[in-house]
Amino acid sequence: MSDFDYVPFSGIEYPKEAFAPDGVLWWESSKRGATGAVPRMASWLRWNVEIGGRFTTRQLRETLGISNEHAQRRQRELRDYGWEYLSSKEEPSLGEDCILEKYGWWPGEGPRPRRQQISSKLRRQVFERDGGRCVLCGRAAGEKYDDGSVVTLTAGHIIANSHGGAASLDNLQTECRVCNESARADTGSVADPGAVVEQVKSLKKADRMELLSWIRAKQRSRSPLDRAFDAYRLGGPNVQAAVLDYLEKVESR
Ligand SMILES: [Zn+2]
Repeated sequence: MSDFDYVPFSGIEYPKEAFAPDGVLWWESSKRGATGAVPRMASWLRWNVEIGGRFTTRQLRETLGISNEHAQRRQRELRDYGWEYLSSKEEPSLGEDCILEKYGWWPGEGPRPRRQQISSKLRRQVFERDGGRCVLCGRAAGEKYDDGSVVTLTAGHIIANSHGGAASLDNLQTECRVCNESARADTGSVADPGAVVEQVKSLKKADRMELLSWIRAKQRSRSPLDRAFDAYRLGGPNVQAAVLDYLEKVESR
């Protein structure tokens, strides 16, 4: 008889908490509330990665059979359930790796907590306050990105949900789809700092100082011209007719 008879088949012995009431590991369970990418990722991470340990999106995707285009978004959703991890977004040297910092909710703890919902009324208040434009890039809904796709707006958290930020007017800001994604992206291109500094150097002094004020305010400020256009766009038909009428009169002078 060899010692190998006693080596468990999987190579890992899981404690009994890792098994769902249906007798299989939580991430393989078909128990209600345990299926779906987010619960399965949470269960797998809970019993396969220690705090301070590393994992990758690819690993989650391949182990759990989650489609490529959804894996990254689902992984980010973990943060809405109290999970904390470092990725290349915070620490570019990590590359593909993520470092687990804190366990959050997983199905063995009970039903999935509700994510904070933003009511349509609150979203409308956020958009109105911000002039119906992304506070980060200044684009309005319906305008086009450089690639020709249409801009859509969303209410983004200033302090993230997972870090205790509330879904309240003072913690929400208008962000377009692309700015919202890149603010939360786990991987991104790692630009050369020298090249970007050169780009900043090439700006006029006044523009450099304005850029500094945007960076400190964490949003771009609106010029009087921008604000006049916002007032026109959001002012309704009477305002728009009056403004257009005035401008066409002065145009011909
Ligand atoms: Zn934007």
